[in-house]
Amino acid sequence: MKKIICAILSAFLLSSVVCSSDIKNKPVYSCNENIGNKIALTFDDGPHPKITPKILEVLDKYNVKATFFVIGINAKNYPETLSMVANKGHQIGNHTYSHKSLKSISKDIVCKEISTAEDEIMQNDIEMTNILRPPGGLYDQTLIDVALEKNYKIVLWNIDTHDWAHASDKAIIKNVINNVKGGDIILFHDYISGRANTISALEKLIPKLQSMGYEFVTVSELLQ
Ligand SMILES: [Zn+2]
Repeated sequence: MKKIICAILSAFLLSSVVCSSDIKNKPVYSCNENIGNKIALTFDDGPHPKITPKILEVLDKYNVKATFFVIGINAKNYPETLSMVANKGHQIGNHTYSHKSLKSISKDIVCKEISTAEDEIMQNDIEMTNILRPPGGLYDQTLIDVALEKNYKIVLWNIDTHDWAHASDKAIIKNVINNVKGGDIILFHDYISGRANTISALEKLIPKLQSMGYEFVTVSELLQ
């Protein structure tokens, strides 16, 4: 049976991160406070053959484009699902090959995790953007050096929905609505081990945010 790489690096997940403008001379971004009412939904850890298509359905329903940070092994195991994501016009980013933490490991392994994931994603003629979400949001100077060399942006988030921790849909919605502002990058997952409330939360959250005047864009559109 094919294995999905687990979402959880819960012990290491960041609860909040600073805005891109606070991090000088580093290719690290968690939001763009100068982009008006635009926000970006991001989905990590897929593709998953059952859950990802359901997320795509909700996004389609509200005509929303999002960004999927894909794990290389899952791209290898579920190429049809990944093609479905790309064909619907969503952005594809890199979430490493095996979901290994990229902090405090050798440069060789960092490079291998990034390039092997690229190979698996692009095997399927998928257009991948040079945006990297390091597992757990963890990075160090070695990863920054690699990102600069490979012309990657390291993309974090500034709203964590805690869907990975099985937050209820009500808690997810309340968290986002109470904290959202233009330029935010919002963290969701399209695979979570155990019960997830991501889809039911999205069903209510997206129209609510649209009614508040927010426009959904991809990460690249948000950071341009
Ligand atoms: Zn992840």
